[in-house]
Amino acid sequence: MTAPRVAIIGGGPAGAAAALTLARGGVEVVVVDASRGPAEKIGESLPPSVRPLLARLELLELLDAAAHRPSFGNRASWGQAEAAEEDFMFGLYGAGWHLDRRRFEAALAKAAEQAGARWLWDHHAVDARHPGGAGGWRLELEGPESLVELDARFILDATGRPARFAVGAGARRIHLDRLVGLALRFDSAGLGDGEGMDGMDGFTVVEAIESGWWYTAPLSGGRAIAVYMSDGDLFDTRSARTAGGWRALLDAAPETRARLRPWLERALEPSATIARAGSAYTSPPAGPGWLAIGDAAVAFDPLSSHGIGSAMTTGYYGACAAAEVLSGGADTGALATYADLVASLFDDYLDLLHQHYRREQRWPTSPFWARRRERLSLDSGR
Ligand SMILES: Cc1cc2nc3c(=O)[nH]c(=O)nc-3n(C[C@H](O)[C@H](O)[C@H](O)COP(=O)(O)OP(=O)(O)OC[C@H]3O[C@@H](n4cnc5c(N)ncnc54)[C@H](O)[C@@H]3O)c2cc1C
Repeated sequence: MTAPRVAIIGGGPAGAAAALTLARGGVEVVVVDASRGPAEKIGESLPPSVRPLLARLELLELLDAAAHRPSFGNRASWGQAEAAEEDFMFGLYGAGWHLDRRRFEAALAKAAEQAGARWLWDHHAVDARHPGGAGGWRLELEGPESLVELDARFILDATGRPARFAVGAGARRIHLDRLVGLALRFDSAGLGDGEGMDGMDGFTVVEAIESGWWYTAPLSGGRAIAVYMSDGDLFDTRSARTAGGWRALLDAAPETRARLRPWLERALEPSATIARAGSAYTSPPAGPGWLAIGDAAVAFDPLSSHGIGSAMTTGYYGACAAAEVLSGGADTGALATYADLVASLFDDYLDLLHQHYRREQRWPTSPFWARRRERLSLDSGR
C-alpha cells in the first residue's frame, strides 16, 4: 500500500469526523476498522445540543433521513419517585435523535469517502512500529485474506474505550469508576395498537434505583432498548445476562418494568450484552506522531449522553491538530493545545456528572450512590 499522510485506526463517530475533516482539508487519509462493516453499537441518544457541531461538519442532512427517530426529551425519576420531564421542544435546538447506530455509522463513512478518505473495513490493526517507512509509522493490518502493511506519517487512535494504539505507544488508560451497562433490545412485531412504539413515545425514560439506574428508549424499525447501569463489582454480571437474571433486576425498577411490560416476551437476544461504561481517560492523549480521539481519549458515563457528540468533537479538533503538525514539519505546539482541550472538556464533564449524581440522595447506604457522592477527579483513577 502507498503511504497516506494520516492513518486513523477505528471508524466510529470519532474516526469518521476526523477523516471527513482531514479529507476536506486536502490531507490524504485512510481509515481502518476491524469490523466487517458498520456495527450496531450500544449508544443511541443524540441530544439536540450536537446540532451546531453537525452543522459545522455539514452532516445535519444525514440525520434528517427517515432512518432515525426524533428524541423529544428525557423523563427521569431521579432524586424523587415522581418523574420530571425535560422537553427538548422548549429548548434552543428542538428535538434530538434516537439513532439507528448502524445506519448512522454507515452514513458517516460514506460522507468521509465522498470527501476523499479511503476506508478499509475488516482490517484489524495488530501492530505499529515507529519509525516505519519515511520516518513515520508502519502499521500491520490483519485483512480479510492476509496481513498488510500501511505506512503513515501520523496516526489517530479512534479505537474506542480500549485505546489500543495509545496504550501500545506507552500512554496509560485510567478508569475513574467501575460502571457497566447491561443492554437488552426488544422488537415490537406482533404488539397491538398503543402497546408497541405508540406506548413507548419519543422520550428516553431514566429511573434511579437503589443499586444503579435504568434507561429505556425507542429505536427505529419498531425496536426499543433498555439498559441497566451499575458497577460491575456490585452485581453478578454473568447471571444478569440470562433472561431470569435481567428480569429479576427489572423487578426493582417499577417504572421501567411498566414501560417494557408489553415488550418483555420480545427480547431480540435471549441474553443481554454487557459493556464497560464508566468515566475514563488516556494520559497523555497525544505523543510524537499520534493522538487519541473519541472514547480512546476520554470516555463518558452514559448519563451525560456526551459520548457520540464528544467523540465527533475530539475527532474534529484532533484532525485539525494533526493537519497542523503535518504542515508545520515539527511539533508546532498543536499537540499540547489539543491535550489541553481534551483535559478541559473532561473536567467540565466531571463537574456536570457530579451535579447529576448528587441530586439522588434517597439511598444513603447504597454502595453505588455512596461512591458517587464525591466529585471524580483525574487522580481518583486506577
Ligand atoms: C451502555 C452505553 C450506553 C451509551 N449511550 C450513549 C448515548 O445514549 N448517547 C451517546 O452519545 N453515547 C452513548 N454511549 C457512548 C458512545 O457509544 C461512544 O461514546 C461512541 O461510540 C464513541 O465513539 P468512538 O468513535 O470514539 O468509538 P467507537 O464507536 O467505539 O468506535 C471504535 C471503532 O474502532 C474499531 N477498532 C477497535 N480496535 C481496532 C483495531 N485494533 N483495528 C481496527 N479497528 C479497531 C472498532 O471496530 C470500532 O468500530 C453509550 C455507551 C455505552 C457503553
